[in-house]
Amino acid sequence: MDRIEIPEDQVTSLDAIAAGVKGLRIVFVNVFGVEHPDGGWTLVDAGIPASAGRIRSWAEKTFGRPARAIVLTHGHFDHASEAAELADGWDCPIFAHELEFPYLTGQKAYDAPNWQAGGGLMSLLSPTYPKDPINLGSRLKALPTEGAALAALPGWTPLHTPGHTPGHVSFFREQDKTLLVGDAFCTTKPESFFEAAIAQQPELHGPPAYFTSDWAAAKASVQRLAGLEPLTVAPGHGKPLTGEGVSNRLYELADAFDEIAVPDNVR
Ligand SMILES: [Zn+2]
Ligand SMILES: [Zn+2]
Repeated sequence: MDRIEIPEDQVTSLDAIAAGVKGLRIVFVNVFGVEHPDGGWTLVDAGIPASAGRIRSWAEKTFGRPARAIVLTHGHFDHASEAAELADGWDCPIFAHELEFPYLTGQKAYDAPNWQAGGGLMSLLSPTYPKDPINLGSRLKALPTEGAALAALPGWTPLHTPGHTPGHVSFFREQDKTLLVGDAFCTTKPESFFEAAIAQQPELHGPPAYFTSDWAAAKASVQRLAGLEPLTVAPGHGKPLTGEGVSNRLYELADAFDEIAVPDNVR
């Protein structure tokens, strides 16, 4: 079957994020490839609809072999749409937090987006995003419980960081304090991804407001991530940030979370 493909000029590779961590931005969302010490690799998040071809050709060029697993930070359509298609091609499992399973097994749709949150094109378009739940079938496996190691991501610890969704997870590598945060927070103004794509300086913002379901939990998750004092953070939306100043900026976001992140109509 012919599938629509994302145009090539909407795809940008994000190299040298941290040792063995590479990324690909597709239109407005990032996916990451994490190399294992033995040469294998795992895909973190699985893109918007029609992006499988772009992810596959990037993966082939970058890693030269199929991914060993796909790990999802959460089940929103911009992070999970191509998981089944890619996992079928690579014959690999897909891991997600158990609390995301209803949204990844076709049982339940996420709450309707709060499209009045923030301004910008993303919020205005959000009623048009796919609403039907994704069904990943029998490839879907539960992430290990809090803090336990995950064989599919050696050296990384999955951390439950709910708020944006109930089963949202982030991944932390203690060795060099690298943090993959999914949508726990963004480094671009999340309601205006397209407008922000031209901005040069990454800046910290809360999670995408139109989709976030529990703001108190989202704040606690950002506080928890700040407490890890990461040196590099790589979000689902926006550019990766690195350096000594990162954890201070994250503390500032956590401290001023209600003003910076929580939209007026839910405050
Ligand atoms: Zn999301
Ligand atoms: Zn997202």
